[in-house]
Amino acid sequence: MALAHLTQADLDSWVTQARRFTLQGRLPDYIPQLAQVDPRLLAVHTIADESLVSGDFAQPFVLMSVIKPFLLLFLLEQVGSDRVFQQVGTEPSDQPFHSIPQLKNDDGFPRNPMINSGAIALTGLMPKTSGSERCEAFRRWLNECAQTQFILDEKALASVRSLPNQTNRAIADLLVQRELLDRVDLAIDTYNQLCCLSGTIADLAQLGSLLAKPHKRISPIHQQMVSALMLTCGLYEVSGKFAVRVGLPMKSGVSGALLAIVPKQGAIACYSPAIDKVGNSVAGLFLVEKLAQELELSVFR
Ligand code: GLU
Repeated sequence: MALAHLTQADLDSWVTQARRFTLQGRLPDYIPQLAQVDPRLLAVHTIADESLVSGDFAQPFVLMSVIKPFLLLFLLEQVGSDRVFQQVGTEPSDQPFHSIPQLKNDDGFPRNPMINSGAIALTGLMPKTSGSERCEAFRRWLNECAQTQFILDEKALASVRSLPNQTNRAIADLLVQRELLDRVDLAIDTYNQLCCLSGTIADLAQLGSLLAKPHKRISPIHQQMVSALMLTCGLYEVSGKFAVRVGLPMKSGVSGALLAIVPKQGAIACYSPAIDKVGNSVAGLFLVEKLAQELELSVFR
């Protein structure tokens, strides 16, 4: 079996089954715009030999933490892995994605690039310009490489800025003390802008292809590193559980975006804004698990 064997009828039927899970999660309350979306939205887009789509595919959404693997990929390409892994670790974490106790326990060195401390630390490797210039350079690179049309959602950014995230600031302070960053404001502004890149479910699936298949501008070693970290760290403290149940590199975001890479085959992108306590989309996880089990997609098969 393979992702290419998926039929539209099966995808539509599994999306229908997934709809009941949209009522089980909650919307994040610390970003006003995300708290106001319709929790019943649900979309999935798969790319293998051809693309299949089902659900509310026209709805754009912000990526939030789904951008993290691509920030890592970008920096691996720009500055190389030696420099990147002086800035951030490669160990999974059993704590929430914005855990300050864990960062303190680890002497201010972020466990991995898939949690907030890791991604915020990585912004320190970007050129010392403004958050807007950094985000724009990254956005252009991403859109060129992945053939996508991500834009910065200014309304979402204003919404994020309207309730300043004290936890992320405290994380950045610790990173400054550890000399991984020089400026808290610049790091937080860059991070917030990256999280507010917005596209459709087709864009998200297309982004997944950047990691799944050989690409003329991206080193296969870097694809391999990012995918390994998605498998071990991409769903925060439940990454291990889903490595067993699904067996695919994945990344979630609090907007309800969820991306799964099917190495050498393609990608599965899901969007459903209701998230569980950990911060993962409830219906999205159901769908990815269903597809992985029915089509035998685990990388360990
Ligand atoms: N911008 C969000 C935050 O820092 C991203 C977290 C996520 O998507 O998991 O809280």
